[in-house]
Amino acid sequence: MKAIVLFSGGLDSLLATRIIQEQGIEVTGLNFATPFYDRSEPAQKAADALEMELIVYRTGNEYMEQIAHPRFGYGKAVNPCIDCRIEMYRVAKEQMEQFGAGFVVSGDVVGQRPNNQMQHQLRLIQRESELDGYIVRPLSAGAMIPTQPELQGWIDRKRLHRYTGRGRGRAIALAHRLGIKKIPPMSTGCFLCEKSYAPKVFDLFQHEPHPTNWDAEILNAGRQLRISPKVKMVLARNENHCKRLEELFARSDARPSILLIPESFQGPTAILIGEEIQESIELAGTLILRYTNSDKYDPSAATIRVCRHSSQTVIPAGIVK
Ligand code: SF4
Repeated sequence: MKAIVLFSGGLDSLLATRIIQEQGIEVTGLNFATPFYDRSEPAQKAADALEMELIVYRTGNEYMEQIAHPRFGYGKAVNPCIDCRIEMYRVAKEQMEQFGAGFVVSGDVVGQRPNNQMQHQLRLIQRESELDGYIVRPLSAGAMIPTQPELQGWIDRKRLHRYTGRGRGRAIALAHRLGIKKIPPMSTGCFLCEKSYAPKVFDLFQHEPHPTNWDAEILNAGRQLRISPKVKMVLARNENHCKRLEELFARSDARPSILLIPESFQGPTAILIGEEIQESIELAGTLILRYTNSDKYDPSAATIRVCRHSSQTVIPAGIVK
């Protein structure tokens, strides 16, 4: 018998995996990486330690569509956790069928997270992902209705747990009992759960009905300045952002945009995104100068290289004074 485990690499997913492995089930991990939450590298290390194959599933533009228009709404920030979990389980179901696995395993603990782990939410998620009866939650199984793998005798319900609510201490104790030596630290969370991050995501969703991964990635590449309903400027905060903006501008899935690079002085790179970008170039030049230390250049001689897309190449297109 085989199973697919939703594997973030966090402690609960490690425990769930090990508990099922100990019952002689062959487990394959599925890691779900989004533009807002990507822990695939530590997850790979954790999977290696468990001697488990790991599939990293990177979400695409369909996921962006789903989270821009969530059927079950947002949590306290811009986190559409119910829709997001349904999507994770939908992908897990596909993998389950592809691998000939019998069920899906998850490290969910009933009541641990108010966004998606309350009993009624867990039931909703398994129904919507068409996995009713086929999701085993080894840490909380005793607090839930028995699943088909338990009823069919594929796994022993008595060897599963009945944890509910929060409690890292008991999880660490269980990890020691199961011989897990490397306890992962509490994971840094998903950006979508951060209230301070929410305004720029809402701004994106408000102005772009079909947001893409590119839109999401550029949210992390500098200050987001809404110049008009149709034009947004992203202004680098540091050198990494400058490089990142150039990379994103050169990508084949980039939106229509103009890249502005200070030429005669050291200042922040910027990108203008939108339909009316030509009219905004001078304003962008002014903003770049405003965020530059004027002690280090002569403002009257400052020039900015303006790069436009031409097929897949980037060309210098003019000078803003
Ligand atoms: S916190 Fe919510 S939105 Fe973010 S990855 Fe988890 S389920 Fe998805």
